[in-house]
Amino acid sequence: MTNDVARYFVRDLDPTNELERGLHCGVRHPDAGGRCQRTATVKMYGILNFCPEHGEEARIGALMEAYQEAAHFFERFRNPHVPDINEIVERELLAAVNRMRGEGPSDADHERALLCAYPNPPEGVREMIAQWERDCRANRGPTPLDLLLDSLNTLNKLMRLSFEDGEDWLTEILEYQRQETAARAACASEDRGLRPVG
Ligand SMILES: [Zn+2]
Repeated sequence: MTNDVARYFVRDLDPTNELERGLHCGVRHPDAGGRCQRTATVKMYGILNFCPEHGEEARIGALMEAYQEAAHFFERFRNPHVPDINEIVERELLAAVNRMRGEGPSDADHERALLCAYPNPPEGVREMIAQWERDCRANRGPTPLDLLLDSLNTLNKLMRLSFEDGEDWLTEILEYQRQETAARAACASEDRGLRPVG
């Protein structure tokens, strides 16, 4: 099911197609370690090319946002301000919400993909995150990881909307910001014990 949902915004590149052979991954933000040297294997939103590692993180992030949005859609009909809904409708809405929450990738899936895609943060990013974490602890606020994952989800939502509206220029601008946020989130989650073995 997950792959079926993803199919509308991500697809494999065709190595037999001259125009799609030998393309490079589009990840290039300095916080993500600069230009990725790997060959692209997937295309997202019809215009962005990714290597397997960066593509998997982008795909999982986009899927999580799509499932969350779908769950919120159904939840809107289940609140005290919606007058009396039929018991059958109520049951089916609850089933739909639970299905959306269960079928999408988990937070742990996403963090594993982040660490695999961005395993070696530049020193400057490490220092910036470490200072940010100290500040958050002092202020007892949300952690940098929580804040960055929220921002990443918002960016994924904006990218989905710009893709659906056919505004490729906006999708490309958002992608650069998404790379920065994803790389920083991977750095912030480094101590969470989810780093892939090997
Ligand atoms: Zn890459």
